[in-house]
Amino acid sequence: MTREEAIEVLTSKDVSMMLEALDMAINALEQLTSYEQTINKLTKAISEQEPTTHGYMLVCPNCGLDVHSDFESCPRCGAKMKVGDV
Ligand SMILES: [Zn+2]
Repeated sequence: MTREEAIEVLTSKDVSMMLEALDMAINALEQLTSYEQTINKLTKAISEQEPTTHGYMLVCPNCGLDVHSDFESCPRCGAKMKVGDV
């Protein structure tokens, strides 16, 4: 039984078919719950993976270029970038 058929049976008030439709509805809800748990796990994993020290931009003291904090020196002029705790 597809979800569409289940909805059709539930709205047609055919009692004998309703039990099957009910099973279908319960299965669908259980699937949604497990999807939700998977998404929550992934969201948590992603947020934990992102270190707070990464992903910000610095400005090169020599040429003024926006340089990602991962760079130790400016990719344009080669000037040393000052990165946090040295
Ligand atoms: Zn530079």
